[in-house]
Amino acid sequence: MDMEAARLRLMQQLSYEIRDKRVLEVMSRVPRELFVPPSSQHAAYENIPLPIEMGQTISQPFIVALMTEALELKGGEKVLEVGTGSGYQTAILCELSKWVVTVERHQRLLEKARNVLALLEIKNVEFHIAGKALGWPEGAPYDAIIVTAGAPRVPRELTDQLAVDGRLVIPVGSRFEQELMKVVKRKEGPESINLGGCRFVPLIGDSAWDDE
Ligand code: SAH
Repeated sequence: MDMEAARLRLMQQLSYEIRDKRVLEVMSRVPRELFVPPSSQHAAYENIPLPIEMGQTISQPFIVALMTEALELKGGEKVLEVGTGSGYQTAILCELSKWVVTVERHQRLLEKARNVLALLEIKNVEFHIAGKALGWPEGAPYDAIIVTAGAPRVPRELTDQLAVDGRLVIPVGSRFEQELMKVVKRKEGPESINLGGCRFVPLIGDSAWDDE
């Protein structure tokens, strides 16, 4: 299978809805096949989420593009990602910003993602195992925060880690389906925009869902 051709075909599809050319350009270079299990490599460029280890999923390419676009990255930002998972979204963030702090609950996923990013020679990133506090307060403030797991509400801990005029993109709703919310932290208070429905695995933590 010609992965390069499949990748470009997918980008062509995404370009009908995604306007940010930088996002599409980066996604047309990052090899998603390296982030999925060998048994699903043939499906790496279908516009669908795929199972990874530890019962988690690599997000659908359209959702990755939509969330990344909403972060409005220009190149100089410090970005926090909550939920490293496969590391695919992480790699895209690294290509579009200055520094990425990524946090994951599962050591096994973190190590795998670290290895793939090293293979791709991506170096502007630090990996952390999730602590008691949501996100990574030690690295705050962030210009942009992306959460790739569904939360019951917009967590105050995360807006606290955002710089003024920073963007937070997070799925908010039930354990099984959510609305993708973009929150911009204005001096006067938060501004929220609903980007549409989505389905993510649950965000686990004291201010999110229980680990079941
Ligand atoms: N962006 C990833 C999505 C992975 S699924 C990708 O496309 O591959 C979401 C991830 O969030 C899972 O790996 C899960 O373990 C992780 N997660 C859930 N709750 C978390 C928390 N409180 N802190 C950090 N990671 C969390």
